[in-house]
Amino acid sequence: MSKKAVLRNGHRPAAPVSWSHAGGGWIEIVVGSMFSGKTQELIRRLRLSQIARQKVQVFNSALDVRYAKDHIVSHDLVKTPSIAVAKAKDILSRIDGDTQVVGIDEVQFFDADIIAVCEKLADEGRRVIVAGLDQDFRGEPFETTARLMALSEFVTKNLAICMLCGNPANRSQRLSGGKKVVEVGAADKYEARCRRCFKRS
Ligand SMILES: [Zn+2]
Repeated sequence: MSKKAVLRNGHRPAAPVSWSHAGGGWIEIVVGSMFSGKTQELIRRLRLSQIARQKVQVFNSALDVRYAKDHIVSHDLVKTPSIAVAKAKDILSRIDGDTQVVGIDEVQFFDADIIAVCEKLADEGRRVIVAGLDQDFRGEPFETTARLMALSEFVTKNLAICMLCGNPANRSQRLSGGKKVVEVGAADKYEARCRRCFKRS
C-alpha cells in the first residue's frame, strides 16, 4: 500500500501505512497541573497536523467559559478554533466523517461519557489528542482523566514550576473560592505548587 493510500474508513493515514496499522487510531493524553502548558502542547500538536493537511476538529466543554466559547486558549493566549459542547456525546454528533485528528481540551470538565467517546473516535481510526488536569484542587485524581490515562496509547505528564519554591510542581493550589471540585478559573484563583508547598483544604 502506498503512502497516500486511503484507509478503509476513508481517512488518509497520519503516518506511512508501514508505521501504523491501516485503519488504526489512538489516544494521546497530555496531563498536568495548572500552568504546566497542557493546552499549549495540545495546540502545538494540532498545528503540526494542520500543516500536514490533516482534517482537525477541536472540542471543549461549554463549562469552560474562561476566554471564548469558540476557541481553546492557553494561558499565554495562543488560541485555536473549537466547538463547545454541553455533553461528551455531543462530540459524536458534531464530528465530521472525514476528520482525522480530534483535539479535546480540559477533559476534566466533561461527563464520564467522554471516555467511551474517545475510545470510539480512536477505534474509528482517528488520532485523539486530549489535554486536561490530572488532579483537582484537593490533590485528588480526576476520575475521567485517570481512566483516560490508563486507556491512552501515549501519556505526557507536564510539570509546572512551584510558585513558592521553584521545585517541579504537579498540584494546583486554589487561592480562593468554594469547595466545588470544578471551579473554572486561572491565574487569579490558582497557583502551581509542589507537593511540599501544597496545602490541603
Ligand atoms: Zn514548592
